[in-house]
Amino acid sequence: MSLAASADRPVTVVGAGPVGLVTAWSLADAGLPVRVLEADTVNRTDWRASTFHAATMELLAGIDGGVVADEMLARGLRVPRYHYRDRRRGLVAEFDLGLLADETRFPFRLQLNQQRLVEILLRRLQELGVAQHFSARAAGLDQDAQGATVTTDDGASYPSSLVVGADGAASAVRKLLGASFEGVTYPQRFLIISVAEDLRAEVPDVHADLAEVSYIADPDEFVFVLRTPESWRVLFPIPPEEDPAEALDPTALQRRLRGFADIGRDYGILDRQIYAVHQRVADRFHDGRVVLAGDAAHINSPMGGMGLNAGIHDAVDLGRRLVRAAGAGGGAGDLRGELAAYDTVRRGVALDYVRADTHRNTQMMAERDPAVRAENQAALRATAADPAAARVWLRRASLLTAVAEQGIGRPLDAAAS
Ligand SMILES: Cc1cc2nc3c(=O)[nH]c(=O)nc-3n(C[C@H](O)[C@H](O)[C@H](O)COP(=O)(O)OP(=O)(O)OC[C@H]3O[C@@H](n4cnc5c(N)ncnc54)[C@H](O)[C@@H]3O)c2cc1C
Repeated sequence: MSLAASADRPVTVVGAGPVGLVTAWSLADAGLPVRVLEADTVNRTDWRASTFHAATMELLAGIDGGVVADEMLARGLRVPRYHYRDRRRGLVAEFDLGLLADETRFPFRLQLNQQRLVEILLRRLQELGVAQHFSARAAGLDQDAQGATVTTDDGASYPSSLVVGADGAASAVRKLLGASFEGVTYPQRFLIISVAEDLRAEVPDVHADLAEVSYIADPDEFVFVLRTPESWRVLFPIPPEEDPAEALDPTALQRRLRGFADIGRDYGILDRQIYAVHQRVADRFHDGRVVLAGDAAHINSPMGGMGLNAGIHDAVDLGRRLVRAAGAGGGAGDLRGELAAYDTVRRGVALDYVRADTHRNTQMMAERDPAVRAENQAALRATAADPAAARVWLRRASLLTAVAEQGIGRPLDAAAS
């Protein structure tokens, strides 16, 4: 069975977030008919993920002559070194992505708000002639052996050769499939505040050498700071008993920020968000002619910046498989086999790499037992001090290991070997 995508029955991508748009772009770049449906009236502008790892930049640079990756590089901030720190004692370990310079063109974390990528992709998709339907909320789904049809809440229907549900954590497509979303929700929420000030100028002496990405452990209140081109962002955990509305109160925001770095006056707050943190993975990533990708398929703690990156990897993996399944390059196309492989490989990565590592990172930040905390910090120090061990650590953290071990859209005969 091949993917018979046509102008009448294109691939329909539900959700114009970063994952849906990378999926649509990789298909359009290969000449496959594709359309995008987005529930919102316009591109969302809320501030969310802002880290792109080396493996992700490599994948994006391989599509469409690298035009999107080039623009991201021009607009983003390159952060080659990042820290694990202790809130009371300062630096624990510094990791230098420069150690990977012999295997990636991108030996840094590229810091760029995800909505900049969305903006760039919407423009590029327009240039490539991809239909973008805004105010089109997917509300119904039917499928048969030939394809699937999405209906939107305005009553329109979109016959499709295949439907990709990239409609985020509360995915309607996932719910319409009846797929479960197993996992846990952490008891604490995360508060992210973006500020205009340069945090490095204001932190206590113990953090005077703060890197632009720093994970700062503390048994009472850990802090994660990262810099983007527009601002510094500071993440705090909010205990379960604290009312989210109170945590967002301007006085409480200032108290938290000044508790970390007191600048002697109020901060200029550019943005603040509070959100529940989950570790959940859908029980299947495809069902017939419907596929899930990105947050619709898996959601994670942001510690390590892996959720969005893994979602983009889903998109590129799926794109390569669908292009083959459409018979591009002369083969007959094995849609069923490609989708089964997508399900196995990408669900495996979500469970064994992303969930495992982001959960461990989150636990480490909040560890309350002093003995375990000391053990964790000694292990981090030893890893960072040994170039071979640091390399293994950095390859895994930047998702290069997952890509090397599991492949991205690896051909079926290669996947079996
Ligand atoms: C406040 C916040 C902070 C975050 N910070 C981090 C971070 O620091 N690091 C990190 O790695 N991750 C972070 N994340 C997670 C990260 O933002 C997501 O992993 C990423 O957005 C996933 O992209 P996506 O395209 O799969 O989904 P989304 O970005 O959620 O996009 C889904 C799109 O689908 C649309 N949609 C929804 N329902 C429908 C429907 N029925 N029909 C049509 N369209 C629909 C939505 O409007 C949206 O445009 C954060 C998330 C939040 C909420």
